[in-house]
Amino acid sequence: MSEGHVITKKRFIAGAVCPACSEPDKLMMWSEDAVPHRECVACGYSDTLNEQGLSVPKELGTRVNTSALKVPDAKVQAVQFFPNPKLKKKPDEQH
Ligand SMILES: [Zn+2]
Repeated sequence: MSEGHVITKKRFIAGAVCPACSEPDKLMMWSEDAVPHRECVACGYSDTLNEQGLSVPKELGTRVNTSALKVPDAKVQAVQFFPNPKLKKKPDEQH
């Protein structure tokens, strides 16, 4: 038996929240050579955990992370910025 490249099965992390898109229960976790890897099935964010258990985003995931952060942010701004033209167009409804 070789002790070289050991990859465990991917498993969902119950209760884990994606650091990129904040979706719960979308993170999968597995290990490669005893190094924990995480991946979000919702936005594609992925990272690894170092020996201190700190998140180390993958280099290729930087763009995904950035774009993923913009999407929910744009939604929030769209909601807050939602125009209300009907409120201004009611000249006949004023008693
Ligand atoms: Zn995500």
